[in-house]
Amino acid sequence: MLTLDGSQGEGGGQILRTSLALSMCLGKAFQIYNIRATRQKPGLQPQHLAAVKAATSIAHAEVKGAELGSQTLRFVPQTVEGGEYRFAIGTAGSTTLLFQTLLPALMRARHASRVILEGGTHNPMAPPFEFLNHAFLPLINHMGPTVKARLVRPGYVPAGGGELDITIQPLSHLRPLTILQRGKLKETRAEVLLSHLPAHIAQRELAVIAESLHLPDSCLHTRFDNLAIGPGNCVSVIITAETITEVFTALGKRGLPAEQVASLVVHEASDYLASDVPVGHYLADQLLLPLALAGSGRFVTGTPSLHTTTNMAVIQQFTEKPFILEQLTSSSWSITLT
Ligand code: ATP
Repeated sequence: MLTLDGSQGEGGGQILRTSLALSMCLGKAFQIYNIRATRQKPGLQPQHLAAVKAATSIAHAEVKGAELGSQTLRFVPQTVEGGEYRFAIGTAGSTTLLFQTLLPALMRARHASRVILEGGTHNPMAPPFEFLNHAFLPLINHMGPTVKARLVRPGYVPAGGGELDITIQPLSHLRPLTILQRGKLKETRAEVLLSHLPAHIAQRELAVIAESLHLPDSCLHTRFDNLAIGPGNCVSVIITAETITEVFTALGKRGLPAEQVASLVVHEASDYLASDVPVGHYLADQLLLPLALAGSGRFVTGTPSLHTTTNMAVIQQFTEKPFILEQLTSSSWSITLT
């Protein structure tokens, strides 16, 4: 049985999620120790435990250590079954991270799936729904499966209560992904999502973005969604180029002026636009798993984050096939799997 150290590299929940996903896809049992060992609240937190339980359910796995706070886990998957599933995290924990744990197995299953996930949809340090929908899923769909996600209701920290409704038409063999350049820039637009908060917040955020990124009114959008059970605000800048769409986001926070929330996004988007790499640093760590499942592929990105190098190391432990990381210029790198 494969044994992993959950505190290696970045040392966070991604090591567990990648292990669960690959274990289900490859039918390889694993055990992991030191799960999130150096975090303030170490071990399995509700979002991670929900991922373990959901994976257990779709892969009919035998599991030991699936308890809150547990720093060890043993996971023995059986056959993955597509179908109708509903999983609730029970807190504002990230549904998008839970989804990314289940997607690799379900997009290669024999039958289609519909998955409803409840929890947070716009969390700090996790992909917000807009990133999932406009950046991550189009690339997954480009690899062959048909995955559609709908934001039924936003869920923010701390209230949670959000819901995603996802349908997955699987495909047993993914097409390799190659993204070497961005191609021509087609459109930059900004979207503000606002729940139970005054409209002037969106106006102030969009004013900063319009001025800094030189966007006309036609590229500025506000969506009021008061189905959420608590207040929340997410600002997204969506950059569409010929080969890729990248999404940069920031979440509103009590005490943080709207102008500063918008500035955070402007900085990230401007850095990306000034660089000539196609794949931003969040997408980079999230594309490694699909690449590994396709068996080959290549993309160009900026300086790899610790999430990226850690994810590469974890995936290699499962596949025994190394990623080749090559520095192209002072600020661009290629990641290749052959
Ligand atoms: P921890 O164990 O540190 O509490 P965690 O389980 O919540 O962490 P991480 O292991 O840190 O999660 O993984 C976070 C994932 O979320 C990474 O894949 C990262 O790329 C992604 N992510 C974080 N912020 C964003 C963002 N703004 N946009 C897109 N993706 C993001």
